Amino acid sequence: MAEQPTPHNFAALDDRWRRELAAAEARIQFLTHHDPLTGLPNRGTFLRQAADVFARAEQHGQCLALLFVDIDHFKRVNDSLGHEVGDAVLHTVAQRIQGALRVTDLVGRFAGDEFLVLLRGNPQDAAIDEVVRKLLESIEAPLLLEDQRSISVTASVGVALYPLHSTRPDELLRQADTAATHAKGRGRAQASRFTPAMSEAAYDALVLESDLTRALAEGQFELAYQPQVRWGDQTLVGVEALVRWRHPERGWVRPDDFIPLAEQRRLMLGIGQWVLAEALRQAWRWHQQGWLSVRMGVNLSAMQFQGGGFMAWVERALMECGAPGSVLELEVTERMIMDDLPDGRASLGALRRMGVHVALDDFGTGTTSLSQLRHLGVDRLKIDRSFVQDLPHDTAACAIAEAIIRLAQGLHLEVLAEGVETAEQWAWLAAQGCPMAQGHLIAQPMPAEAFEQWLQQRARPA
Ligand code: C2E
Ligand code: MG
Ligand code: MG
Repeated sequence: MAEQPTPHNFAALDDRWRRELAAAEARIQFLTHHDPLTGLPNRGTFLRQAADVFARAEQHGQCLALLFVDIDHFKRVNDSLGHEVGDAVLHTVAQRIQGALRVTDLVGRFAGDEFLVLLRGNPQDAAIDEVVRKLLESIEAPLLLEDQRSISVTASVGVALYPLHSTRPDELLRQADTAATHAKGRGRAQASRFTPAMSEAAYDALVLESDLTRALAEGQFELAYQPQVRWGDQTLVGVEALVRWRHPERGWVRPDDFIPLAEQRRLMLGIGQWVLAEALRQAWRWHQQGWLSVRMGVNLSAMQFQGGGFMAWVERALMECGAPGSVLELEVTERMIMDDLPDGRASLGALRRMGVHVALDDFGTGTTSLSQLRHLGVDRLKIDRSFVQDLPHDTAACAIAEAIIRLAQGLHLEVLAEGVETAEQWAWLAAQGCPMAQGHLIAQPMPAEAFEQWLQQRARPA
Protein backbone atom coordinates (compact mmCIF):
# COMPACT_ATOMS: atom_id res chain seq x y z
CA MET A 1 0.00 0.00 0.00
CA ALA A 2 1.34 3.47 -0.87
CA GLU A 3 2.59 5.40 2.13
CA GLN A 4 0.24 8.22 3.10
CA PRO A 5 1.88 11.64 3.48
CA THR A 6 1.57 12.67 7.12
CA PRO A 7 2.64 15.93 8.78
CA HIS A 8 5.81 14.07 9.84
CA ASN A 9 7.06 13.12 6.45
CA PHE A 10 5.45 16.08 4.64
CA ALA A 11 8.72 18.00 4.76
CA ALA A 12 10.42 15.19 2.90
CA LEU A 13 8.21 15.54 -0.11
CA ASP A 14 9.72 17.30 -3.03
CA ASP A 15 8.60 20.82 -3.77
CA ARG A 16 6.49 20.04 -6.81
CA TRP A 17 4.49 17.38 -5.03
CA ARG A 18 4.05 19.68 -2.05
CA ARG A 19 2.68 22.42 -4.28
CA GLU A 20 0.30 20.00 -5.99
CA LEU A 21 -0.90 18.68 -2.68
CA ALA A 22 -1.53 22.19 -1.38
CA ALA A 23 -3.43 23.06 -4.56
CA ALA A 24 -5.53 19.91 -4.25
CA GLU A 25 -6.29 20.73 -0.63
CA ALA A 26 -7.30 24.24 -1.56
CA ARG A 27 -9.52 22.84 -4.32
CA ILE A 28 -11.21 20.43 -1.89
CA GLN A 29 -11.70 23.33 0.52
CA PHE A 30 -13.20 25.40 -2.28
CA LEU A 31 -15.49 22.64 -3.49
CA THR A 32 -16.88 21.91 -0.06
CA HIS A 33 -17.89 25.54 0.26
CA HIS A 34 -18.69 26.50 -3.33
CA ASP A 35 -20.82 25.32 -6.18
CA PRO A 36 -18.48 23.78 -8.76
CA LEU A 37 -20.49 24.96 -11.76
CA THR A 38 -20.80 28.65 -10.98
CA GLY A 39 -18.03 29.09 -8.43
CA LEU A 40 -20.50 30.85 -6.12
CA PRO A 41 -20.80 29.98 -2.42
CA ASN A 42 -23.12 26.98 -2.13
CA ARG A 43 -26.27 26.99 -0.06
CA GLY A 44 -24.56 26.00 3.22
CA THR A 45 -21.77 28.54 2.84
CA PHE A 46 -24.16 31.31 1.85
CA LEU A 47 -26.40 30.63 4.83
CA ARG A 48 -23.41 30.57 7.21
CA GLN A 49 -22.06 33.84 5.80
CA ALA A 50 -25.53 35.34 5.91
CA ALA A 51 -25.94 34.33 9.57
CA ASP A 52 -22.85 36.45 10.42
CA VAL A 53 -24.23 39.38 8.44
CA PHE A 54 -27.60 39.12 10.20
CA ALA A 55 -25.87 39.03 13.60
CA ARG A 56 -23.91 42.18 12.79
CA ALA A 57 -26.99 43.94 11.40
CA GLU A 58 -28.80 43.20 14.65
CA GLN A 59 -25.91 44.60 16.69
CA HIS A 60 -25.77 47.82 14.69
CA GLY A 61 -29.50 48.22 14.04
CA GLN A 62 -29.09 47.98 10.27
CA CYS A 63 -31.44 46.92 7.49
CA LEU A 64 -30.77 44.15 4.96
CA ALA A 65 -32.53 42.97 1.83
CA LEU A 66 -32.70 39.31 0.84
CA LEU A 67 -33.34 38.60 -2.85
CA PHE A 68 -34.49 35.24 -4.20
CA VAL A 69 -33.58 35.06 -7.90
CA ASP A 70 -35.27 32.30 -9.91
CA ILE A 71 -34.63 31.84 -13.63
CA ASP A 72 -37.85 31.61 -15.63
CA HIS A 73 -38.62 28.46 -17.63
CA PHE A 74 -35.15 27.11 -17.04
CA LYS A 75 -36.40 23.57 -17.60
CA ARG A 76 -37.22 24.57 -21.13
CA VAL A 77 -33.59 25.57 -21.75
CA ASN A 78 -32.43 22.18 -20.48
CA ASP A 79 -35.10 20.24 -22.36
CA SER A 80 -34.73 21.99 -25.69
CA LEU A 81 -31.03 22.83 -25.79
CA GLY A 82 -29.51 20.17 -23.57
CA HIS A 83 -27.84 20.17 -20.18
CA GLU A 84 -24.53 21.50 -21.42
CA VAL A 85 -26.20 24.66 -22.64
CA GLY A 86 -28.20 24.73 -19.40
CA ASP A 87 -24.95 24.67 -17.43
CA ALA A 88 -23.47 27.44 -19.59
CA VAL A 89 -26.57 29.56 -19.00
CA LEU A 90 -26.33 29.07 -15.23
CA HIS A 91 -22.66 29.96 -15.29
CA THR A 92 -23.31 33.17 -17.23
CA VAL A 93 -26.28 34.14 -15.08
CA ALA A 94 -24.14 33.66 -11.95
CA GLN A 95 -21.48 35.98 -13.38
CA ARG A 96 -24.08 38.54 -14.34
CA ILE A 97 -25.64 38.50 -10.89
CA GLN A 98 -22.21 39.07 -9.35
CA GLY A 99 -21.53 41.83 -11.84
CA ALA A 100 -24.71 43.66 -10.86
CA LEU A 101 -23.79 43.75 -7.14
CA ARG A 102 -21.29 45.51 -4.95
CA VAL A 103 -18.42 43.39 -3.64
CA THR A 104 -19.77 43.72 -0.14
CA ASP A 105 -23.08 42.06 -1.04
CA LEU A 106 -23.40 38.30 -0.62
CA VAL A 107 -24.46 35.97 -3.37
CA GLY A 108 -24.88 32.20 -3.46
CA ARG A 109 -26.38 29.41 -5.51
CA PHE A 110 -29.34 28.09 -3.58
CA ALA A 111 -30.42 25.20 -5.79
CA GLY A 112 -30.78 24.36 -9.51
CA ASP A 113 -31.76 27.64 -11.12
CA GLU A 114 -32.19 29.60 -7.89
CA PHE A 115 -29.77 32.14 -6.48
CA LEU A 116 -29.75 34.15 -3.27
CA VAL A 117 -28.47 37.68 -2.80
CA LEU A 118 -28.10 39.56 0.47
CA LEU A 119 -27.74 43.32 0.14
CA ARG A 120 -25.80 44.83 3.03
CA GLY A 121 -25.05 48.33 4.18
CA ASN A 122 -28.51 49.52 5.18
CA PRO A 123 -29.99 49.57 1.64
CA GLN A 124 -32.92 51.96 1.24
CA ASP A 125 -35.93 51.36 -1.03
CA ALA A 126 -34.53 53.26 -4.00
CA ALA A 127 -31.19 51.44 -3.78
CA ILE A 128 -32.91 48.03 -3.60
CA ASP A 129 -35.09 48.87 -6.61
CA GLU A 130 -32.01 49.95 -8.51
CA VAL A 131 -30.13 46.70 -7.77
CA VAL A 132 -33.19 44.65 -8.76
CA ARG A 133 -33.51 46.60 -12.02
CA LYS A 134 -29.84 46.04 -12.79
CA LEU A 135 -30.14 42.34 -11.97
CA LEU A 136 -33.18 41.79 -14.19
CA GLU A 137 -31.61 43.75 -17.03
CA SER A 138 -28.26 42.05 -16.94
CA ILE A 139 -29.79 38.55 -16.76
CA GLU A 140 -32.04 39.33 -19.72
CA ALA A 141 -29.24 40.47 -22.03
CA PRO A 142 -28.85 38.06 -24.99
CA LEU A 143 -26.46 35.22 -24.37
CA LEU A 144 -24.31 33.88 -27.20
CA LEU A 145 -24.00 30.09 -27.33
CA GLU A 146 -20.94 28.26 -28.61
CA ASP A 147 -22.61 27.62 -31.95
CA GLN A 148 -23.21 31.40 -32.27
CA ARG A 149 -26.94 31.09 -31.61
CA SER A 150 -28.22 33.71 -29.25
CA ILE A 151 -30.79 33.02 -26.53
CA SER A 152 -32.13 35.08 -23.69
CA VAL A 153 -33.48 34.09 -20.32
CA THR A 154 -35.35 36.13 -17.73
CA ALA A 155 -35.61 35.83 -13.99
CA SER A 156 -38.25 36.44 -11.34
CA VAL A 157 -37.03 38.06 -8.15
CA GLY A 158 -38.58 38.05 -4.69
CA VAL A 159 -37.50 40.59 -2.09
CA ALA A 160 -37.84 40.31 1.70
CA LEU A 161 -36.54 42.94 4.12
CA TYR A 162 -34.80 42.63 7.46
CA PRO A 163 -36.12 43.61 9.98
CA LEU A 164 -39.32 44.91 8.36
CA HIS A 165 -40.69 41.52 7.27
CA SER A 166 -38.91 39.31 9.75
CA THR A 167 -35.82 39.17 11.96
CA ARG A 168 -35.44 35.42 11.42
CA PRO A 169 -33.23 34.44 8.47
CA ASP A 170 -35.14 31.21 7.75
CA GLU A 171 -38.43 33.08 7.67
CA LEU A 172 -37.00 35.81 5.44
CA LEU A 173 -35.82 33.14 3.05
CA ARG A 174 -39.32 31.68 2.84
CA GLN A 175 -40.77 35.16 2.34
CA ALA A 176 -38.33 36.00 -0.48
CA ASP A 177 -39.16 32.65 -2.10
CA THR A 178 -42.90 33.34 -1.77
CA ALA A 179 -42.43 36.80 -3.31
CA ALA A 180 -40.50 35.27 -6.24
CA THR A 181 -43.34 32.80 -6.82
CA HIS A 182 -45.70 35.76 -6.77
CA ALA A 183 -43.56 37.54 -9.39
CA LYS A 184 -43.76 34.42 -11.57
CA GLY A 185 -47.52 34.35 -11.15
CA ARG A 186 -47.74 37.94 -12.37
CA GLY A 187 -46.08 37.00 -15.62
CA ARG A 188 -42.38 36.45 -14.79
CA ALA A 189 -39.38 38.63 -15.71
CA GLN A 190 -40.12 40.96 -12.80
CA ALA A 191 -39.66 41.44 -9.09
CA SER A 192 -42.15 41.35 -6.22
CA ARG A 193 -41.64 42.64 -2.73
CA PHE A 194 -43.01 40.38 0.00
CA THR A 195 -46.30 41.30 1.68
CA PRO A 196 -48.00 39.38 4.51
CA ALA A 197 -50.98 38.75 2.21
CA MET A 198 -48.67 36.62 0.06
CA SER A 199 -47.99 34.32 3.00
CA GLU A 200 -51.70 33.83 3.57
CA ALA A 201 -52.19 33.18 -0.13
CA ALA A 202 -49.26 30.74 -0.13
CA TYR A 203 -50.67 28.93 2.91
CA ASP A 204 -54.08 28.85 1.32
CA ALA A 205 -52.56 27.43 -1.85
CA LEU A 206 -50.75 24.79 0.17
CA VAL A 207 -53.94 23.64 1.87
CA LEU A 208 -55.82 23.75 -1.41
CA GLU A 209 -53.03 21.81 -3.07
CA SER A 210 -53.23 18.91 -0.64
CA ASP A 211 -57.04 18.88 -1.05
CA LEU A 212 -56.60 18.96 -4.81
CA THR A 213 -54.44 15.84 -4.84
CA ARG A 214 -57.36 13.90 -3.34
CA ALA A 215 -60.16 15.57 -5.28
CA LEU A 216 -59.94 13.43 -8.40
CA ALA A 217 -59.87 10.12 -6.53
CA GLU A 218 -62.79 11.28 -4.37
CA GLY A 219 -64.93 12.26 -7.34
CA GLN A 220 -65.19 15.94 -6.43
CA PHE A 221 -65.09 17.27 -9.99
CA GLU A 222 -68.18 17.92 -12.03
CA LEU A 223 -68.87 19.42 -15.41
CA ALA A 224 -71.15 22.32 -16.22
CA TYR A 225 -72.43 22.78 -19.76
CA GLN A 226 -72.92 26.11 -21.48
CA PRO A 227 -74.76 26.34 -24.80
CA GLN A 228 -73.57 28.29 -27.82
CA VAL A 229 -76.23 29.60 -30.19
CA ARG A 230 -76.66 31.35 -33.51
CA TRP A 231 -78.04 34.89 -33.82
CA GLY A 232 -81.62 35.14 -35.07
CA ASP A 233 -83.16 31.67 -34.82
CA GLN A 234 -81.12 30.79 -31.69
CA THR A 235 -80.09 27.42 -33.19
CA LEU A 236 -77.74 25.50 -30.92
CA VAL A 237 -74.29 25.46 -32.54
CA GLY A 238 -72.22 23.94 -29.75
CA VAL A 239 -71.81 23.27 -26.03
CA GLU A 240 -68.80 23.99 -23.85
CA ALA A 241 -67.94 21.72 -20.93
CA LEU A 242 -66.53 23.67 -17.95
CA VAL A 243 -65.03 21.93 -14.97
CA ARG A 244 -66.17 22.66 -11.40
CA TRP A 245 -64.65 21.48 -8.12
CA ARG A 246 -67.09 20.70 -5.33
CA HIS A 247 -64.78 21.14 -2.34
CA PRO A 248 -66.09 19.35 0.78
CA GLU A 249 -65.70 22.47 2.99
CA ARG A 250 -65.38 25.45 0.68
CA GLY A 251 -68.19 24.57 -1.69
CA TRP A 252 -67.77 25.33 -5.37
CA VAL A 253 -64.28 26.37 -6.41
CA ARG A 254 -64.01 28.10 -9.79
CA PRO A 255 -61.57 26.75 -12.36
CA ASP A 256 -59.57 29.98 -12.37
CA ASP A 257 -58.89 29.38 -8.66
CA PHE A 258 -57.56 25.85 -8.95
CA ILE A 259 -56.38 25.20 -12.51
CA PRO A 260 -53.18 27.30 -12.21
CA LEU A 261 -52.36 25.41 -9.00
CA ALA A 262 -53.18 22.07 -10.60
CA GLU A 263 -50.89 22.98 -13.49
CA GLN A 264 -48.03 23.97 -11.21
CA ARG A 265 -48.28 20.69 -9.33
CA ARG A 266 -48.74 18.63 -12.49
CA LEU A 267 -52.18 17.47 -11.35
CA MET A 268 -53.87 18.97 -14.38
CA LEU A 269 -52.99 16.01 -16.56
CA GLY A 270 -55.21 13.65 -14.58
CA ILE A 271 -57.98 16.24 -14.17
CA GLY A 272 -57.88 17.06 -17.90
CA GLN A 273 -58.17 13.41 -18.84
CA TRP A 274 -61.14 13.00 -16.54
CA VAL A 275 -62.80 16.12 -18.06
CA LEU A 276 -62.31 14.84 -21.60
CA ALA A 277 -63.63 11.35 -20.82
CA GLU A 278 -66.63 12.67 -18.90
CA ALA A 279 -67.53 15.36 -21.48
CA LEU A 280 -67.26 12.83 -24.29
CA ARG A 281 -69.34 10.25 -22.45
CA GLN A 282 -72.05 12.83 -21.81
CA ALA A 283 -71.95 14.27 -25.34
CA TRP A 284 -72.14 10.86 -26.96
CA ARG A 285 -75.07 9.85 -24.75
CA TRP A 286 -76.94 13.03 -25.70
CA HIS A 287 -76.12 12.41 -29.36
CA GLN A 288 -77.42 8.85 -29.19
CA GLN A 289 -80.58 10.00 -27.41
CA GLY A 290 -81.09 12.46 -30.22
CA TRP A 291 -80.91 15.49 -27.92
CA LEU A 292 -77.70 16.88 -29.29
CA SER A 293 -76.27 17.07 -32.78
CA VAL A 294 -73.54 19.62 -32.17
CA ARG A 295 -69.98 19.39 -30.92
CA MET A 296 -68.90 19.38 -27.29
CA GLY A 297 -66.17 21.93 -26.58
CA VAL A 298 -63.53 20.81 -24.09
CA ASN A 299 -60.80 23.11 -22.78
CA LEU A 300 -57.23 21.90 -22.78
CA SER A 301 -54.54 23.14 -20.47
CA ALA A 302 -51.00 23.85 -21.60
CA MET A 303 -49.75 20.86 -19.65
CA GLN A 304 -52.02 18.44 -21.51
CA PHE A 305 -51.28 19.89 -24.91
CA GLN A 306 -47.53 20.02 -24.54
CA GLY A 307 -47.03 16.78 -22.65
CA GLY A 308 -46.05 13.69 -24.60
CA GLY A 309 -48.77 11.22 -25.46
CA PHE A 310 -51.43 13.89 -25.94
CA MET A 311 -52.71 12.50 -29.25
CA ALA A 312 -52.75 8.97 -27.87
CA TRP A 313 -55.05 9.82 -24.99
CA VAL A 314 -57.46 11.84 -27.13
CA GLU A 315 -57.66 8.81 -29.42
CA ARG A 316 -58.12 6.47 -26.47
CA ALA A 317 -60.83 8.64 -24.92
CA LEU A 318 -62.76 8.59 -28.22
CA MET A 319 -62.32 4.86 -28.59
CA GLU A 320 -63.32 4.07 -25.02
CA CYS A 321 -66.66 5.82 -25.35
CA GLY A 322 -67.11 4.75 -28.97
CA ALA A 323 -67.69 8.29 -30.20
CA PRO A 324 -66.42 9.68 -33.50
CA GLY A 325 -64.00 12.64 -33.46
CA SER A 326 -66.72 14.82 -34.98
CA VAL A 327 -68.43 14.98 -31.54
CA LEU A 328 -65.51 16.92 -30.13
CA GLU A 329 -64.14 20.44 -30.33
CA LEU A 330 -60.95 21.04 -28.35
CA GLU A 331 -60.29 24.57 -27.13
CA VAL A 332 -56.68 25.68 -27.03
CA THR A 333 -55.22 29.12 -26.40
CA GLU A 334 -52.87 31.04 -28.62
CA ARG A 335 -50.08 30.85 -26.07
CA MET A 336 -50.26 27.07 -25.88
CA ILE A 337 -49.58 26.81 -29.59
CA MET A 338 -47.06 29.62 -29.85
CA ASP A 339 -44.94 28.18 -27.03
CA ASP A 340 -43.94 25.37 -29.33
CA LEU A 341 -45.19 26.17 -32.80
CA PRO A 342 -43.94 23.16 -34.83
CA ASP A 343 -45.25 20.63 -32.28
CA GLY A 344 -48.45 22.60 -31.76
CA ARG A 345 -49.17 22.70 -35.45
CA ALA A 346 -48.48 18.97 -35.82
CA SER A 347 -50.89 18.17 -32.95
CA LEU A 348 -53.62 20.34 -34.45
CA GLY A 349 -53.16 18.62 -37.81
CA ALA A 350 -53.45 15.17 -36.24
CA LEU A 351 -56.60 16.20 -34.33
CA ARG A 352 -58.27 17.42 -37.48
CA ARG A 353 -57.44 14.16 -39.22
CA MET A 354 -59.43 12.43 -36.47
CA GLY A 355 -62.35 14.72 -37.27
CA VAL A 356 -61.89 16.75 -34.09
CA HIS A 357 -62.47 20.50 -34.42
CA VAL A 358 -60.10 23.00 -32.86
CA ALA A 359 -61.13 26.38 -31.45
CA LEU A 360 -58.74 29.15 -30.44
CA ASP A 361 -60.06 30.21 -27.03
CA ASP A 362 -59.73 33.69 -25.50
CA PHE A 363 -58.68 34.98 -28.89
CA GLY A 364 -57.18 38.46 -28.94
CA THR A 365 -55.33 38.11 -25.66
CA GLY A 366 -52.40 36.15 -27.08
CA THR A 367 -49.74 36.77 -29.64
CA THR A 368 -50.66 34.85 -32.77
CA SER A 369 -49.38 36.59 -35.85
CA LEU A 370 -51.70 36.69 -38.80
CA SER A 371 -49.39 34.70 -41.04
CA GLN A 372 -49.14 31.96 -38.42
CA LEU A 373 -52.90 31.84 -38.01
CA ARG A 374 -53.31 31.08 -41.70
CA HIS A 375 -51.32 27.88 -41.43
CA LEU A 376 -52.37 26.77 -37.99
CA GLY A 377 -55.31 24.62 -38.93
CA VAL A 378 -57.95 25.84 -36.49
CA ASP A 379 -61.68 25.90 -37.18
CA ARG A 380 -63.00 28.59 -34.90
CA LEU A 381 -61.93 31.76 -33.11
CA LYS A 382 -63.57 32.60 -29.79
CA ILE A 383 -63.49 36.32 -29.08
CA ASP A 384 -62.34 36.74 -25.49
CA ARG A 385 -64.97 37.95 -23.06
CA SER A 386 -62.74 40.78 -21.84
CA PHE A 387 -63.44 42.56 -25.14
CA VAL A 388 -67.07 41.49 -25.33
CA GLN A 389 -67.88 42.92 -21.91
CA ASP A 390 -66.88 46.44 -23.04
CA LEU A 391 -68.99 46.39 -26.21
CA PRO A 392 -70.40 48.47 -27.74
CA HIS A 393 -69.31 51.63 -25.91
CA ASP A 394 -65.58 51.19 -25.61
CA THR A 395 -63.98 52.12 -28.92
CA ALA A 396 -60.85 50.03 -28.40
CA ALA A 397 -62.90 46.90 -27.56
CA CYS A 398 -65.07 47.54 -30.63
CA ALA A 399 -62.02 47.93 -32.86
CA ILE A 400 -60.48 44.68 -31.58
CA ALA A 401 -63.70 42.67 -31.82
CA GLU A 402 -64.32 43.98 -35.32
CA ALA A 403 -60.77 43.15 -36.40
CA ILE A 404 -61.13 39.58 -35.09
CA ILE A 405 -64.41 39.15 -36.96
CA ARG A 406 -62.84 40.46 -40.22
CA LEU A 407 -59.85 38.20 -39.70
CA ALA A 408 -62.06 35.14 -39.22
CA GLN A 409 -64.07 36.04 -42.30
CA GLY A 410 -60.91 36.54 -44.36
CA LEU A 411 -59.49 33.20 -43.29
CA HIS A 412 -62.84 31.40 -43.60
CA LEU A 413 -62.91 30.52 -39.92
CA GLU A 414 -65.96 30.37 -37.68
CA VAL A 415 -66.13 33.11 -35.09
CA LEU A 416 -67.98 33.03 -31.77
CA ALA A 417 -68.17 35.64 -29.02
CA GLU A 418 -67.93 34.46 -25.43
CA GLY A 419 -69.29 36.19 -22.34
CA VAL A 420 -72.24 37.90 -24.08
CA GLU A 421 -74.35 39.35 -21.30
CA THR A 422 -76.58 41.97 -22.90
CA ALA A 423 -78.86 42.16 -25.92
CA GLU A 424 -76.97 45.27 -26.94
CA GLN A 425 -73.67 43.37 -27.12
CA TRP A 426 -75.31 40.55 -29.05
CA ALA A 427 -76.90 42.91 -31.57
CA TRP A 428 -73.64 44.80 -32.11
CA LEU A 429 -71.70 41.55 -32.66
CA ALA A 430 -74.29 40.17 -35.08
CA ALA A 431 -74.30 43.43 -37.03
CA GLN A 432 -70.52 43.17 -37.41
CA GLY A 433 -70.84 39.62 -38.76
CA CYS A 434 -70.23 37.49 -35.66
CA PRO A 435 -73.15 35.07 -35.88
CA MET A 436 -72.48 32.89 -32.82
CA ALA A 437 -72.36 33.56 -29.12
CA GLN A 438 -72.13 32.02 -25.68
CA GLY A 439 -72.87 33.86 -22.47
CA HIS A 440 -75.22 34.55 -19.59
CA LEU A 441 -77.65 36.30 -21.94
CA ILE A 442 -78.31 32.90 -23.50
CA ALA A 443 -77.66 30.64 -20.50
CA GLN A 444 -75.28 30.15 -17.59
CA PRO A 445 -73.15 26.99 -17.48
CA MET A 446 -75.45 24.28 -16.05
CA PRO A 447 -75.10 20.81 -14.51
CA ALA A 448 -75.99 17.97 -16.88
CA GLU A 449 -79.62 17.56 -15.68
CA ALA A 450 -80.32 21.29 -15.90
CA PHE A 451 -78.83 21.35 -19.38
CA GLU A 452 -81.11 18.47 -20.41
CA GLN A 453 -84.12 20.45 -19.14
CA TRP A 454 -82.89 23.50 -21.03
CA LEU A 455 -82.70 21.39 -24.22
CA GLN A 456 -86.17 19.93 -23.62
CA GLN A 457 -87.74 23.33 -23.04
CA ARG A 458 -86.36 24.59 -26.33
CA ALA A 459 -87.64 21.52 -28.16
CA ARG A 460 -91.21 22.21 -26.92
CA PRO A 461 -93.25 24.42 -29.22
CA ALA A 462 -93.93 27.84 -27.63
P1 C2E B 1 -63.12 29.82 -20.95
O1 C2E B 1 -62.77 28.56 -21.64
O2 C2E B 1 -62.91 31.09 -21.70
O3 C2E B 1 -64.61 29.63 -20.49
C1 C2E B 1 -65.56 30.60 -20.49
C2 C2E B 1 -65.69 31.18 -19.12
O4 C2E B 1 -66.57 32.29 -19.20
C3 C2E B 1 -66.35 30.24 -18.12
O5 C2E B 1 -65.80 30.53 -16.85
C4 C2E B 1 -67.81 30.67 -18.15
O6 C2E B 1 -68.51 30.35 -16.98
C5 C2E B 1 -67.62 32.17 -18.28
N1 C2E B 1 -68.77 32.83 -18.85
C6 C2E B 1 -69.60 32.36 -19.78
N2 C2E B 1 -70.55 33.27 -20.10
C7 C2E B 1 -70.28 34.36 -19.36
C8 C2E B 1 -70.87 35.67 -19.25
O7 C2E B 1 -71.83 36.00 -19.90
N3 C2E B 1 -70.29 36.53 -18.40
C9 C2E B 1 -69.21 36.22 -17.67
N4 C2E B 1 -68.71 37.14 -16.85
N5 C2E B 1 -68.62 35.01 -17.73
C10 C2E B 1 -69.15 34.09 -18.58
P2 C2E B 1 -65.35 29.40 -15.89
O8 C2E B 1 -66.26 28.23 -15.97
O9 C2E B 1 -65.12 30.05 -14.57
O10 C2E B 1 -63.98 28.97 -16.52
C11 C2E B 1 -62.91 29.84 -16.54
C12 C2E B 1 -61.80 29.29 -17.36
O11 C2E B 1 -61.27 28.11 -16.77
C13 C2E B 1 -62.24 28.86 -18.74
O12 C2E B 1 -62.32 29.96 -19.59
C14 C2E B 1 -61.14 27.91 -19.12
O13 C2E B 1 -60.03 28.62 -19.57
C15 C2E B 1 -60.82 27.28 -17.81
N6 C2E B 1 -61.47 25.97 -17.74
C16 C2E B 1 -62.74 25.67 -17.42
N7 C2E B 1 -62.94 24.35 -17.48
C17 C2E B 1 -61.76 23.80 -17.87
C18 C2E B 1 -61.31 22.46 -18.12
O14 C2E B 1 -62.05 21.49 -18.02
N8 C2E B 1 -60.01 22.31 -18.48
C19 C2E B 1 -59.17 23.36 -18.62
N9 C2E B 1 -57.93 23.13 -18.99
N10 C2E B 1 -59.56 24.62 -18.41
C20 C2E B 1 -60.85 24.83 -18.03
MG1 MG C 1 -63.11 27.73 -23.28
MG1 MG D 1 -62.56 31.68 -23.35
